[in-house]
Amino acid sequence: MNKIAKTYLEKDPWQIKEIGFNKERAMVSESLFSLANEYSGIRAFFDEGYSGPRLVGTYYNGVISFGEEEPNAYKGIAKRTHFTINSPNWVKCEFTLNGEQLDLNVSDFKNFERELDFRNGNYIRTFTWLVDDYELTFTFERLLNMVNCHEGAVRLTLSSNKDVEIAAKFMIDAGILHWGNKCYWEVENVIKEKDTVGLQVKTIDTNMKLTSIMNISGLEQATSFYEDKNVGLSTLLNLKKDETKVIDRLVINRTFKNNNDNEEELHIAKKELETLIKRGFAGVFDVNATYFADLFAKSDIEIYGDLENQQGIRYCLFQLEQTYHGYEEGNNIGAKGLTGEAYSGHAFWDSETYCLPYYLFTNKKAAKALLMFRYDTLEEAKKRALDLDCVGACFPIATRNGEEACTLWQHASLQQQPSTAVSYAIYHYMNIYKDDEFMLNYGGELIIEIAKFLLSRGQYASDGKSFGYYGVMGPDEFQLMVNNNTYTNFMAKETFAYLLRLNEEYDFSALNKKCGVDETFYKEIKKAHDKMIILYDEKTKLFEQHDGYYKLPHIDISSIPNSDFPLYSHWSYDRIYRNDLIKQPDVLMFMLLYNQKFTLEQLRNNYNFYEPRCIHESSLSPSVHSIIAAQIGEEEKAYDFFQFATRLDLDDYNNNTNEGIHMTSIAAAWMNIIYGFGGFRSDGEILVLNPTLPAQWEGYKFKLLLPEGLITVEVTKDSLIITNDGAPIDFKIYDEKVTLTKKVVIKR
Ligand code: BGC
Repeated sequence: MNKIAKTYLEKDPWQIKEIGFNKERAMVSESLFSLANEYSGIRAFFDEGYSGPRLVGTYYNGVISFGEEEPNAYKGIAKRTHFTINSPNWVKCEFTLNGEQLDLNVSDFKNFERELDFRNGNYIRTFTWLVDDYELTFTFERLLNMVNCHEGAVRLTLSSNKDVEIAAKFMIDAGILHWGNKCYWEVENVIKEKDTVGLQVKTIDTNMKLTSIMNISGLEQATSFYEDKNVGLSTLLNLKKDETKVIDRLVINRTFKNNNDNEEELHIAKKELETLIKRGFAGVFDVNATYFADLFAKSDIEIYGDLENQQGIRYCLFQLEQTYHGYEEGNNIGAKGLTGEAYSGHAFWDSETYCLPYYLFTNKKAAKALLMFRYDTLEEAKKRALDLDCVGACFPIATRNGEEACTLWQHASLQQQPSTAVSYAIYHYMNIYKDDEFMLNYGGELIIEIAKFLLSRGQYASDGKSFGYYGVMGPDEFQLMVNNNTYTNFMAKETFAYLLRLNEEYDFSALNKKCGVDETFYKEIKKAHDKMIILYDEKTKLFEQHDGYYKLPHIDISSIPNSDFPLYSHWSYDRIYRNDLIKQPDVLMFMLLYNQKFTLEQLRNNYNFYEPRCIHESSLSPSVHSIIAAQIGEEEKAYDFFQFATRLDLDDYNNNTNEGIHMTSIAAAWMNIIYGFGGFRSDGEILVLNPTLPAQWEGYKFKLLLPEGLITVEVTKDSLIITNDGAPIDFKIYDEKVTLTKKVVIKR
């Protein structure tokens, strides 16, 4: 893989830190130092403004607008997209001294430093502004409350080497442009009261609203103003030599999607602001410190003897938690979290396939809420199936509101993996939590509707003897309109098998009635299952990726010049489809999901065949290869692929962290350690642990929160130590069944 680390941050196990301003990496830092609390997210742009390249980005989970409608789109092609919109900037300020406005792109300054601490989520930035012979030291601290998610807080600490008077403005700016060219907000109400200023704004086309109000303490005299969608306070700051001034900005941001009553909303927001003022900046800091202490107590990963990956994986845990933790039903995980506009804030099959495992073993509530997102958008998935001339529920490839937002028909119409990912996720969740209430009220209905879709989308071959999927695209997006992609067929077959089992185990009579299915449907499911085409050769133990894959023109990856990567930007769009190159795991993907159905020989043969054909153009790819490589004993390969997992964004391996961080590959980094080196498996009847230790590490330790209790697994050079703080639980460890009670030590 052609990936180069762009290292500029200090190494530290608990924080990221930049010493000196790396101007050419300004937008990368904006993404990396982002804050979020699932409800909203804010990039680490400069509060005081910056005239260099920047993305002043603030986003709310689920606050969207629509794109232009395409009236002539063919049937089945999404007519209109939607996207999470850039929203008002609630940290904006300006400072002017001796006619110069502070702007680190042009101003003289020294001692720039910033850090983001994973133990409290405090983003701190400090520098000294040099104007004539004044030296003014600014320290900005920024917090988003992880529990009371409407609360934001900024503390500015200022000092000067001489007596000075600075003109300052503190604002909320609703004139923010999305994609740098269009503002999706209109102002409905401006609040300019003695202690509180703010805005009530509404999206231009989706009737979503936001109330943003703030209180600023530490100002002597201030005048409120409103101009160009900016509301704020303007003041003169008088600083005595060596005196320290502290200015706290406390903000409530409340979105409301169904309530049109601004007055009532403002009333609630003001009440929340009163509570926040009582809590104060320090109170928000404490809430977050407790929150993250609890988080690391149940999900920390320690790596002994590898500071870079230690920092990397803790960064991943921190960002996963910031982006999603089951705060509110209806939220989901955008491929870039809440840190940028790329991928439009959409959730993909990534949520169920890559992110869900992390939540399954750290936070049941969040895992369930992720599944409920699909239940809550079932009606949209049913409409989508009808658009595609099918029935049942077809879940979208990219969405935030349940509708298909991907206007590329090759993906939106041909990929079935969002739907099979939902049924797999339900299977996985049930395997751990045995949640009958969920199954009978939500999960069962989802699976029946997905199976209806899969049955209607599949076809029998002309001789009527086999069932399969024609004109599809599997996870490997370099193969378009193929027949019988084995991933698609395998996952559909497993969905059918699961539903047949469920219908035996549970009383589904009410559900079957609700979904309009009867015994005939189950017979058809059984027949399609039994006749499903799975392209497998018993002699070679290879699965063919799709019908005809072996005959495709071969390209040796090493013959492609480095300058051609990423291929999407350097090869014509059709050229990438005309050979056997693979973008990301396809056969290897289902072999990971249903891992325990395969022998080591099958895994090894398929890995050896497909890995050399894969160019890892998706950031989701290396971790899956690493997990399988670890399983088949390819230790060096496993470590090589892992190299990019925890630090993909910190070292900007894909040269695009400036657009936002790769949330779903961050989740894959967690899987890489737990399922890869830890050899954990959760897809079968019994949980499995098969830990290996990379030669580069002295040891590592991870945790799994199971219904029975918290399991801590520590792997060192000569032993495996497992502690269980809850009820006994059965595991298969190095192929032997072990009942874990309190502590087990196994020699390695
Ligand atoms: C990958 C998809 C993924 C999407 C969002 C694409 O590049 O090919 O599998 O769902 O990114 O992460």
